[in-house]
Amino acid sequence: MRDSNCIFCKIVAGEIPSNTIYEDEEFKVFLDISPATKGHALIVPKQHYKDIYDIDEEVAARAMKLGKKLATHMTEVLACDGFNLMQNNNEAAGQTVFHFHLHLIPRYLGSKNNDILNWSHETFMAEEMAEIRDSLAL
Ligand code: 5GP
Ligand code: ZN
Repeated sequence: MRDSNCIFCKIVAGEIPSNTIYEDEEFKVFLDISPATKGHALIVPKQHYKDIYDIDEEVAARAMKLGKKLATHMTEVLACDGFNLMQNNNEAAGQTVFHFHLHLIPRYLGSKNNDILNWSHETFMAEEMAEIRDSLAL
């Protein structure tokens, strides 16, 4: 399945160039064109899935497995100090490319871009927290 208007489908098909660091039958992993840090890469399934709601759960599980492997490899090669794996769904969550992808973001102590992913906090009363907990129980 591919979406003819999707930029990541075009990258997967080789119609748009990318700095690819890993590829197998199911995934392509390439450097983000506008990286948050040195080495910022994206794990992209070759099949077009819009987001976490749409993706086959086995494919999602294998994407995370690959994330573990690459985070370990990239940490060794880049000598980074930490690592974020991030995955955005829908505009409200910052998704801009609507083809599922897992961000691999190496982190470096003392780098100028260290406040990425730093969010301020909301406060909820204990009753609200309990209500949220109860509403979310599976
Ligand atoms: P999102 O905001 O959807 O989680 O992440 C989309 C990411 O894709 C962004 O970090 C953006 O820089 C990256 N991106 C968008 N277009 C291209 C492209 O054509 N090539 C590459 N390599 N990355 C892209
Ligand atoms: Zn696509």
